[in-house]
Amino acid sequence: MAERITMSSEGALQVPDEPIVPFIRGDGIGVDIWPAAQRVLDTAAAKHGHRVAWKEVLAGQTAFDETGTWLPEETVSTFADYLIGIKGPLTTPVGGGIRSLNVALRQVLDLYVCLRPVRWFQGVPSPVRHPEKVDMVIFRENTEDVYAGLEVQEGTPEAKKLITFLHDEMGWSVRPDSGVGIKPVSETGSKRLIRAAVNYAVARGRRSVTLVHKGNIQKFTEGAFRSWGYELVREEFADVAVAWEDCGGDPGGRVLVQDTIADITLQQVLTRPDEFDVIATTNLNGDYLSDALAAQVGGIGIAPGGNINYVSGHGIFEATHGTAPRYAGQDKVNPGSLLLSGVLMFEHLGWQAAADDIVRAMEATFAERIVTYDFARLTEGATEVKTSEFASAIVDRL
Ligand code: NAP
Repeated sequence: MAERITMSSEGALQVPDEPIVPFIRGDGIGVDIWPAAQRVLDTAAAKHGHRVAWKEVLAGQTAFDETGTWLPEETVSTFADYLIGIKGPLTTPVGGGIRSLNVALRQVLDLYVCLRPVRWFQGVPSPVRHPEKVDMVIFRENTEDVYAGLEVQEGTPEAKKLITFLHDEMGWSVRPDSGVGIKPVSETGSKRLIRAAVNYAVARGRRSVTLVHKGNIQKFTEGAFRSWGYELVREEFADVAVAWEDCGGDPGGRVLVQDTIADITLQQVLTRPDEFDVIATTNLNGDYLSDALAAQVGGIGIAPGGNINYVSGHGIFEATHGTAPRYAGQDKVNPGSLLLSGVLMFEHLGWQAAADDIVRAMEATFAERIVTYDFARLTEGATEVKTSEFASAIVDRL
């Protein structure tokens, strides 16, 4: 019987055998990648005695065409009620009241973690020599930093007012022809993000959590993020994790918590990827880092993501690329990003065996060089297949 996923009083997800999971098919290539991903997810789930009762909800262009709104209230309340959902890419309305539908969903449900695992799958073309050394999980803060939307435009009365205030009250001199943005980074926001990262590292037996920040320059935002991270580890995780400076780099059996500056990190994830494991970082750093890292292991056509609130239990897993409108309806693009987001969702639900099976079948497909156009152009001797055929190849190997 189809049932809701719920949260126990101890804060653990309670997942029935047939959970109701809302999904947004997505605009543009959503029509191609959603059915492909769903077929693989359903096959793997069935193999392990599970079934997903999919419940379609609307957002984006499809919602606008049918209802006149980009993000219907019913969609938001369905995600709120059923806790866990998944979505394809959405068109960002140009000149509408909503900055981005993705941002809106994250804000309404307070999905404070953007989870982006980055690992290489055998057979995937990569621009680096040792993509197999890349196995990182990025926890990007999802609600604050320069993404808080606190910006004023150059030349407006608001900008003038803010610049005058900064001059008169703080003694700060800002050029009068400036646009000005505010970057809030809170103790609450930082600690809940880092707590999620350390919990993940402990639960999954990962070696380390690296706090990535720009604290050498932005001391009271990025620097504070780092300090709060170490404080949290000492306060809440002393038995299972330890800060570098408290153990001289020798954590014993515990998770090592260390930190690096954002700019050098972007270099080191390329030159020494095996030194990074779980990464916890602020919003903007995480944005750059996750795309840069995805490039090492096959690009955005295959990069999965999830937006999660570990306290309320809400989570929306999503393809990390856009709607690629010029390929829409051609049964051509790579469904990997959405499919692996589904795999991430299965892992989050505790369906590890089904998730592992999909990864294994996908690797077997890549190993035979059966790929969509994006990988075909980078793979010698590839057999280029359509989106649906790629899904069939995975299903055949499940
Ligand atoms: P995009 O849709 O991500 O597409 C950019 C390029 O990435 C494509 O031309 C294609 O490259 C490659 N690509 C994307 N998805 C792929 C897939 N599944 N398989 C293979 N290659 C893939 O970015 P965009 O063109 O800048 O944005 C289009 C729309 O999407 C905009 O409305 C934007 O606002 C929206 N958007 C939505 C999200 C979201 O919902 N999460 C995220 C980003 C953008 P090649 O042509 O080189 O093969």
